[in-house]
Amino acid sequence: MIEVNPSFLQLPGGYLFPEVARRVEAFLADRPGERLIRLGIGDVTRPLAPCVVEAMEAACREMGRKETFRGYCEEANGSYGFLRAAIAASYREEGIAVAEDEIFVSDGSKSDCANLGELFAPEAVVAVCDPVYPVYVDSSAIAGRAGRYDPATGRWDRLVYLPCTRETGFLPRPPRARADLIYLCSPNNPTGAAADLELLRAWVDYANGQGSVLLFDGAYEAFVTSPGVPRSIYAVPGAEACAIELRSFSKSAGFTGVRCSYLVVPRALKRGGVSLNALWARRQSTKFNGVAYIVQRGAEAALSPRGRRETGEAVAYYRRNAQILRAGLAGAGFIVHGGVDAPYLWVETPPELDSWGFFDWLLRRSGVVCTPGVGFGPAGEGYVRLAAFGDAEAAEEAVGRIRQALL
Ligand code: PLP
Repeated sequence: MIEVNPSFLQLPGGYLFPEVARRVEAFLADRPGERLIRLGIGDVTRPLAPCVVEAMEAACREMGRKETFRGYCEEANGSYGFLRAAIAASYREEGIAVAEDEIFVSDGSKSDCANLGELFAPEAVVAVCDPVYPVYVDSSAIAGRAGRYDPATGRWDRLVYLPCTRETGFLPRPPRARADLIYLCSPNNPTGAAADLELLRAWVDYANGQGSVLLFDGAYEAFVTSPGVPRSIYAVPGAEACAIELRSFSKSAGFTGVRCSYLVVPRALKRGGVSLNALWARRQSTKFNGVAYIVQRGAEAALSPRGRRETGEAVAYYRRNAQILRAGLAGAGFIVHGGVDAPYLWVETPPELDSWGFFDWLLRRSGVVCTPGVGFGPAGEGYVRLAAFGDAEAAEEAVGRIRQALL
């Protein structure tokens, strides 16, 4: 009889969000009709920018006429030249040279960051942050690279964990241990911290020194405003020899339901004499038929000057929410991290409460739903994550309710 992938059998069942939902349901059963403020989920709420809608409508009409209909995209693994040119131009504006044939368009950074593991040998040692965006861990486990899972510690024995704690500034530092494939996320989900040039330089030095590869997840790059915080790993000279960068339209242009992302695999990135760019092109041509033409036209519009202006308004809106939450909670005496260059706030729990204890306190005393930090990894204990993707009125009201609860 065929055996199922044994690594799958070890994956802990999705615990975090089902448990959040269970506790919220129990609360609502006690207090029916209570209006909750949900600051837990990292999904956008602002509508698509008008120019994106117009571009997708126009593309849709093209698809409805014989003369302009398009089937499979024959270009570069399903990415149209118009979108790769727009992406290359947006990098150029940041002062970064990326060639169009180094860009691969895809349906989301979630699948990209999981699929990239296919480029590397099964025995490659993977390093992840703790706390972490769970996709890096679970996809490494499915690929058989994580070893054995220990439910008592919540850790896999073959992964290298990079603590993101108060001591490390809530970002990972290069380890003493060997790591071949390193998932870096900046601005970071869940801690909301963003790496400065010096930290990125340390990682590039580490990777070039060890022959490792950095997978730099820039899903939240649009939120960076602080001087000295690069949006791209390629701001560091030498990164083109060791780093793959992922970006997404999900949070920068509200595409979580539209689906479009891209990654950069520099031609200079080789391991064992093999070009990872060529390998990824081969992988995509085998397993991927590209992103919808209509979506790629929408993404192109998002990168136009008008698109930047319009999508920038939504990002600024979320950023203001983050400021409201940050200032309001700090004013109420909480210790708040993140929320400056990221849509996430990482809030320390009061000394007498752990992550779930503070989750319950916020829910029961103020009707605010957060995400317990420990759900992102053991080092997240003692924190909760708040997301700034909701309405401004809700952010204001959440602060008011929490202050009230403290009285
Ligand atoms: N990377 C990080 C760190 C994320 O938080 C998310 C989504 O929440 C993603 C990637 C997924 O992005 P996408 O919608 O492009 O799949």
